[in-house]
Amino acid sequence: MNGPHRELTPEAALRLTLAAEPWLSCDDCFEQIDEYVERVLADQHMGMPAMHAHLAGCGACGEEGRSLLLLVAEDEGIDPGPGLRRLAAG
Ligand SMILES: [Zn+2]
Repeated sequence: MNGPHRELTPEAALRLTLAAEPWLSCDDCFEQIDEYVERVLADQHMGMPAMHAHLAGCGACGEEGRSLLLLVAEDEGIDPGPGLRRLAAG
């Protein structure tokens, strides 16, 4: 029982959701986001579940990830579509 406290903030809900995941701060996320986006584009990102969990749960970092993926894909001349789908799906 959780009692009458039903109004979870998004942040609190996220903490609960991710309680079983390795937790990253946004700073940690930003340190690894370049590598993660490169890996997503190469379909080699499965070894970074904490990054996926953070990007899925953190609106700001998720948006940053999408923007960066589009930039990198354009820079490398590749189609960002599959990467965006992998970013969304994990
Ligand atoms: Zn974040």
